[in-house]
Amino acid sequence: MMAVEDYRGRGSPKASGKGAGPKEGARSIFVVQEHLASRHHWDLRLEIGGVLRSWAMPKEPPLAPGIRRLAIQTNDHPLEYADFEGNIPEGEYGAGRVKRWDGGTYEFESVHDNKYVCIMKGDRLKGAYVLLRFRPGKEKGMWLFFRRK
Ligand code: MN
Repeated sequence: MMAVEDYRGRGSPKASGKGAGPKEGARSIFVVQEHLASRHHWDLRLEIGGVLRSWAMPKEPPLAPGIRRLAIQTNDHPLEYADFEGNIPEGEYGAGRVKRWDGGTYEFESVHDNKYVCIMKGDRLKGAYVLLRFRPGKEKGMWLFFRRK
């Protein structure tokens, strides 16, 4: 486990450059952190190009097909943040408790600008999941996250 200060000291990495985007078949880690902040949410973080690309979901990630969750893209986080659990103090951004909800590895079955298909190998999330951007053109946008039938 790392201290919040370690993470904050490093600052947020900038968006990935050329060649650091998602790649089909690449095996990478993922984590879902349950975050009891002022708004309870779940942070999905996928290792892409050396950082954790991140989405915040206001509702619990779906285990079964047929349930679509809103996933709002948020700032990239350092890879080390995948192991973070603990309390972000009052007054800090994201104040509240963070605990690991799921984690494991995944690989991309396919990658398009607005649609990623991920084969998840987590403790809870298993099988093919889709991230679908529904407002193309915005760098950080609104996505849907759901298990493929
Ligand atoms: Mn969060």
